[in-house]
Amino acid sequence: MPFKWGKGQRLADSYDVAVIGAGVFGAWIAYRLRGSGRSVALLDAYGAANSRSSSSDESRVLRMGYGALEIYTRWALQSRRSWIEFFESAGKPELFAPTGVLWTTPPADAAIGQTTATLQNFGVSFEFLTSAELQARFPQFAFSSERIGIFEPLGGALYSRRAVQAVVEQAIRNGVDYFRDAAEAPNGNEVRTKSGKVLHAGAFVYACGPWLPKIFPEILEGRIRPTRQEVFYFGPPAGNRQFAPPEMPIWLDFSSGRREYVLPDLENRGLKVGFDRHGPPFDPDSGDRVVRDAAEVRAFVAERFPALAGAPILESRVCQYENTSSGDFLIDRHPRFENVWLAGGGSGHGFKHGPMVGEYVAALLEGTAQVESRFSLASKSREPQRSVY
Ligand SMILES: Cc1cc2nc3c(=O)[nH]c(=O)nc-3n(C[C@H](O)[C@H](O)[C@H](O)COP(=O)(O)OP(=O)(O)OC[C@H]3O[C@@H](n4cnc5c(N)ncnc54)[C@H](O)[C@@H]3O)c2cc1C
Repeated sequence: MPFKWGKGQRLADSYDVAVIGAGVFGAWIAYRLRGSGRSVALLDAYGAANSRSSSSDESRVLRMGYGALEIYTRWALQSRRSWIEFFESAGKPELFAPTGVLWTTPPADAAIGQTTATLQNFGVSFEFLTSAELQARFPQFAFSSERIGIFEPLGGALYSRRAVQAVVEQAIRNGVDYFRDAAEAPNGNEVRTKSGKVLHAGAFVYACGPWLPKIFPEILEGRIRPTRQEVFYFGPPAGNRQFAPPEMPIWLDFSSGRREYVLPDLENRGLKVGFDRHGPPFDPDSGDRVVRDAAEVRAFVAERFPALAGAPILESRVCQYENTSSGDFLIDRHPRFENVWLAGGGSGHGFKHGPMVGEYVAALLEGTAQVESRFSLASKSREPQRSVY
C-alpha cells in the first residue's frame, strides 16, 4: 500500500518539541530533532510545501559561491552533502539535478575574486572561464558587454516542492506527528491552534517563513518583509537541446540591479527565468498569484538568448521572499519566551541551506551551539541594507 501522509494523527499529551511550519526549514528541523531522539509534532497551516509557501515551486538553486561570506559557502557545501545523502536514503536521488552553476560578471567585478577565494578556502571545485571560453562553451548566450565566468560543477537544482515533501514524509516515517493546522502565537508552555487543539511541548520552533511577522508583529513587523517575486518558464524551440542540461547549466549574473537568474529546461517544463531584485510588499495568505507584466522578462530573454526571441511562456508563478534587513537568516530565541525559537528570514537564498538549518536548530535546543551573531534577532534592523545574496 502506498505510504499516506498529511491526514492528521493523534495528538500526544506533550512533545519535546513542536515545530510550526513545514517549509524547508521546519521540515528539516523536525527531521533532525526526531533523528536525535526527540518526540516531535510538526504543524502546517496549508500543508507541507503548499503553493503559498516560499518553499513551493518546482526548483531552487544550490550553489556554494557566496562572495566572501564563508558561513554560507560552508553551510551550502554541507547541506549539499546532506541533501544528496537524504535523497539516496529516501530512494529519490532524482530530486537533485547536477546541472552545475555558471556565474558571469564583468571582468572588473570584485565579487568574483571574493567568491573564488572562498571556494578555494573550502576546497570547492570551480573553473574560471575567459570571455572567449565562455562564448565557445555556451553559444546559446549573447552578452551585450564583456563577461567572464566561473563554473561550479557541484552546483545544481533541488526539486524544491517534492524535496520538502520527501523530508516530511520521512520525518513521519521516523515518528514525527504531522498535522495540518494553524498555530497561534505561544502562551507559556502551550500553543493553541485554529482548529481548537492545544499543543503542549517543552520547546516550540516557529519556522513560518513569510508569516513570521504576522504571528509576532511586535518583534518582527518590518524586520521580515515579504516581497512579491515572479518567475517565468519559457518554452525552447522544438527539437532544441541547447537550453536543457548538460548543454545549459544554471546561470546567474548579479551584476545589474535586476540580478538575473535562469534555471535550464528541467523535466521539459521550460527555461525558468527570474530577477532576484526585491518586488513590492506581499501578503502570503491573501496575495493573488497571477503575474503582472512579462514585457521586461521577455525582452531580457530575447536579448540574452537570441534563439528564444518570441518563445512562449509555458508557466509562471508568484512566490515571495521573506527578507531580513541584511539577507541573513533569523534563527534565535524569542526575547520573551525561553522555550520559543524563531527560524526564518531565508531572504531569497535559504532553500539550499535547509539541512544545516535543521542541524543548527537541533544543536541550539540541545545546548551544544550558540546563536551566531549574524542570525540573531538583535542584528535585524527595520532598514533594508541587503548584503547577502
Ligand atoms: C522565487 C523564489 C526563488 C528562490 N530561489 C532560491 C534559490 O534558487 N535557492 C535557494 O536556496 N533559495 C531560494 N529561494 C528562497 C527559499 O525558497 C526560501 O528562503 C525558503 O524556502 C524559506 O523556507 P521556510 O521554511 O522558511 O518558509 P516557507 O517555505 O514559507 O514555510 C513556512 C510554512 O509555515 C506555514 N505556516 C505559516 N503560518 C503558520 C501557522 N500559524 N501555523 C502553522 N503553519 C504555518 C506555511 O504554511 C508554510 O508552509 C527562493 C524563493 C523564492 C520565492
